[in-house]
Order: sequence, then C-alpha cells, then structure tokens
Amino acid sequence: MTALGMGGGNPERLAAAAAGRPAYVYDLPALDAHAAAVRQALPGVELYYAVKANPDPELLRVLEPHVDGFEVSSGGEHTHVTALFPGKPLALGGPGKTDAELLLPAHRMHVESPGELRRLLSTGRRADVLLRVNPDLPVSGAALTMSGPFGMDDDDVRACLPLFDDRVRLRGRHYHLASGLDADQLLGLAETLLSTDPHEVNLGGGMAVDYRDPGARFDWAAYGAGLARLRRTGQVVRIEPGRALTAYCGYYLTEVVDVKRVRGAAYAVLLGGTHHLRTPVTKGHDQPFTVLPTGNGPGLHDEPVTLVGQLCTPKDIFARNITTSLRVGDTVIFAMAGAYAWNISHHDFLMHPKPGFHYLTNA
Ligand SMILES: *Cc1c(COP(=O)(O)O)cnc(C)c1O
Repeated sequence: MTALGMGGGNPERLAAAAAGRPAYVYDLPALDAHAAAVRQALPGVELYYAVKANPDPELLRVLEPHVDGFEVSSGGEHTHVTALFPGKPLALGGPGKTDAELLLPAHRMHVESPGELRRLLSTGRRADVLLRVNPDLPVSGAALTMSGPFGMDDDDVRACLPLFDDRVRLRGRHYHLASGLDADQLLGLAETLLSTDPHEVNLGGGMAVDYRDPGARFDWAAYGAGLARLRRTGQVVRIEPGRALTAYCGYYLTEVVDVKRVRGAAYAVLLGGTHHLRTPVTKGHDQPFTVLPTGNGPGLHDEPVTLVGQLCTPKDIFARNITTSLRVGDTVIFAMAGAYAWNISHHDFLMHPKPGFHYLTNA
C-alpha cells in the first residue's frame, strides 16, 4: 500500500493556514461547494445534517443555508444548535432521552420505545413524532449496522400506535439502518421503507465514505434520482447524513518528531496522536495522508512505515505499513478528518497540548 493522498485538498495551502502543529484545518469553501451539490442532487427531499458527525459552529454556519434542518441527538446538541440558529427546524433523536430532553422544542421527536412514548405523553406537551423503527431487513455490505438497542421492532411499533392523541401526533417513521452504504444499497432499502408509511419517512444517514479513496464520493445524483422515483405524491421524505457531508473538509496537520526501526518494522512518531484524531482507531482503517517535505532530519525512504502518535499505547496508530518517504521535521497532513474525528477523540489522555483550529475561507 502506498500513501493515499488528499482527495482534492491543496497541501501547501493547508500547511500555510496553520502555524503550529498539530492543527486542524477546515476547508470551508470546499464544504460549501459540496453541500450545495448534495442539496441540488435531492429535489423534493428534505435534507437535515446529523450534528453528531461534527458540531463545529464554523461548519454548521456553512451548512445551514443548504439544509432544511439539523438532527440533534442530545440536549447538549439541541442547546448548541438553537443558540446558533434560533428557529431552525430540529429533529431530536437518540436513545435514553431524559425527561428534560423530552420537553425540548423540536420540529420532530424521534421516539425510540413505547416507554419513551409514554413518558413523552405524560409531559402534557405537544409533539410531532416519528417512530424509530428497527426493521428486520437484510443490510449487507455496511460498515456498521444499527441493530441492537436502536428503535423498535414490529411488536413495539404496534404497541405505540394506540397511544397517540391530538397533542402527541404520529407523523411517520424514522430509520437509520447502517453506515457505509452506497446509493444502490440505500435505494434498495428505501424502496421497502417508503412503501410502509405514506405520510412521512426519515431514511436516516449512513451514506458511504471510502477512506481508501479520498477522491471518491457517494453518488448523490443517483440517490436523488432514485428517491424522486420512489417518493409517493404528498409523501415527506427526509434524510439526515453526517459523515458524508463533513468528512472531506477536515484535515489534521502534524509533524514527524522521530523515525525508528523496532524489530525490523519502521515507525514514524508524529506530534499529537489518536487522542486528536480517533477515526482510524474506531474505524480500523489507515487514515489517508500526504507528506510535505518540510524537514531535514533523519529519514525513511520509500518503504512501509507505520505512523504513530505520542500516546503510550500500542493502539495509537494512524496508518500501518504504508509505503512512503519521510524525515524528521516533515509535515504530515491527514485527510478526511472532518467527521467523527476531533469530537469523538479522548483529548485529555496524557495531557499533551491541544491542536490549533484553522479555517480556510474565500477571503
Ligand atoms: C449517526 C446518525 C446519523 C448520521 O449518520 P452518518 O453515518 O454520519 O451519515 C443519522 N441519523 C441517526 C439517527 C444517527 O444516529
């Protein structure tokens, strides 16, 4: 395997945007263009952004004009988004909602169980509800299937139906079945799901992001055309992608501090680590990267190198056995670090300095 590259980002421009290392750099004009293209590919479909993928306010401000609303999965995300965009429609989901969360205003409440629906009813509030359904459908080829505690099976959905009244109203169904699905796989599922509720269906997120190919994109045009074909007259169809919107605009820049060989294996030790960029550990992949030759220290030349961070654990690995050349002082730029990256990482482990955060703009 060789170094995987950037998938569109300009390494020199990214490096110039951040003085210190390590640093996150977000390419906001690229995010803007990507979100506009996604929006355009989905005529007649409501587009929400799943905030848990990356809640950075600068990214949310770029996304906001392109999305119909935001999907939030906690009281914390709800407060965060409401403060930024008062009045913007929110869908509130997530397992284990507290009584306080069940009182939060939302365009749609995604209810996860009959018990949660009963607690929502007992608040006395008004609410427009989608039932989160966990259907018995084969999902093949997914990176992560959402079986387990999420949503309800058919028996529990049936148990919910008689509970609705004129305050807490059933609007439709919500699905989020898997992550890492391509447009054909998602359309195959949508064909079944859109036929089960004529009124309103939220098809969730999970659009594939291929970390082995930073230049590849989910086929939004095919998905949008397919949904336009499957959607019934008057039916509200909503999707709520996270990763496939923001993964590509983020970069983690760091620097080689040491190169070494241990029992025959070559390692490059980088400033920072997976406590800043946990994505390759959680997903079990090699994070794509590019090396900028800014150093003049000892080096490794055109051989398989494992890139690690500064944590005292063998799990602190960005990428394994990637054929590359690098030397101490070189800049390493990891791509595809805009979703489930900084915000899912264990920042305080070992108490190294936090990265800087920088934003490319058109100005
Ligand atoms: C995480 C999540 C999403 C977003 O998933 P991505 O894989 O980031 O697109 C959407 N809906 C629900 C309910 C989720 O839990």
